[in-house]
Amino acid sequence: MVHIDRLNCDECGTCVSVCPANALTLGESLAVDEQKCTSCCRCVDVCPFGALSLLREDLE
Ligand code: SF4
Ligand code: SF4
Repeated sequence: MVHIDRLNCDECGTCVSVCPANALTLGESLAVDEQKCTSCCRCVDVCPFGALSLLREDLE
């Protein structure tokens, strides 16, 4: 699942709008629903601040 680097996240919402699984929500801060996330990597690719990454076990 996706890891959020909160120090770098600007809460711009770009990742929320591209997630095909609706796994990301932006309330007081960005949150990921690990039950919904399919580790597709789209949010990681679009984040302008490099604040998202996939955890290693998802890539193996
Ligand atoms: S795209 Fe990046 S900076 Fe914007 S809300 Fe998502 S994680 Fe945060
Ligand atoms: S990896 Fe894909 S499914 Fe998971 S939160 Fe990012 S865009 Fe959504």
